[in-house]
Amino acid sequence: MPEGKIIKALSGFYYVLGKEGIIQCRGRGVFRKNKVTPLVGDEVSYQAENETDGYIMEVKERKNELVRPPIANVDQAILVFSAVEPDFSTALLDRFLVLVEYNHIRPLICITKVDLLDGGIGKLEQYAADYRNAGYEVILASSETLEGLEDLYPYLEGKISVFAGQSGVGKSSLLNALRPELELKTSGISHHLGRGRHTTRHVELIKIGDSGLVADTPGFSSLEFTEIEPTELNFCFPDIEQISEECKFRGCLHVSEPKCAVKAAVEAGGIPEYRYEHYKDFLQEIKDRKPRY
Ligand code: GDP
Ligand code: ZN
Repeated sequence: MPEGKIIKALSGFYYVLGKEGIIQCRGRGVFRKNKVTPLVGDEVSYQAENETDGYIMEVKERKNELVRPPIANVDQAILVFSAVEPDFSTALLDRFLVLVEYNHIRPLICITKVDLLDGGIGKLEQYAADYRNAGYEVILASSETLEGLEDLYPYLEGKISVFAGQSGVGKSSLLNALRPELELKTSGISHHLGRGRHTTRHVELIKIGDSGLVADTPGFSSLEFTEIEPTELNFCFPDIEQISEECKFRGCLHVSEPKCAVKAAVEAGGIPEYRYEHYKDFLQEIKDRKPRY
């Protein structure tokens, strides 16, 4: 049976991208048999009726599942931050990183609007170096001059990516700059990230490059730590987690415990102080959270 990936769901139809191109499928068998509602991003097998239509027969096990936007098997979150307008914020970046790490999705940091930096890129380069040290990929780009986009393409290949980031940082501009003109013309539909609230909510994966798929709706719009437990925050800071193996106490929260390797690393300059401060702020926020009933 042929296999493919759902790239769009609309009015009861699923558009499955397979070897033969895009097949418009109904869900028939799959609802009754697997009791699963297919999602954009799902790997499926389908039965073709003819060259353009078919039926989804089976939904493969999902790696993960985002609720907003509803997408399965997300590989990567591209965290879009602008250099200016709005100013780059490490506090907000760390918050996004925690939420993405918690979902076991790989983050990629993309700083846009570098063309607007007239006072030089110095401070931003320091931040970029800090985050690279922490184990993250950082790309500096501009949708205006198109610099840095070449560096971004390889990260999209073979993956499902979602954009995330505050409004106004340049997510739509980036997607438009990345997408080849040809696609725009052939699809005949204008996609816009963060479309109006009143239009029907549906999500679509847009093909970029040879094998990249990017969601046309940004993810991680809620920035609350509603699910995360205090002891889990450690795992959402990979640089802190790595060092925490040397803490004297198991389950060390790196706040007031003696012989804490994380605190020592911050003092020695191995972990930027601002990242540790954000860790402590987030931990307090999680501890202060009202219990959920
Ligand atoms: P979104 O809300 O994250 O989708 O942000 P938009 O893509 O709508 O961009 C917000 C504003 O920033 C728009 O006026 C864009 O023209 C502008 N913008 C986005 N990217 C860049 C960039 O790289 N350079 C410059 N100079 N302006 C940009
Ligand atoms: Zn510790």
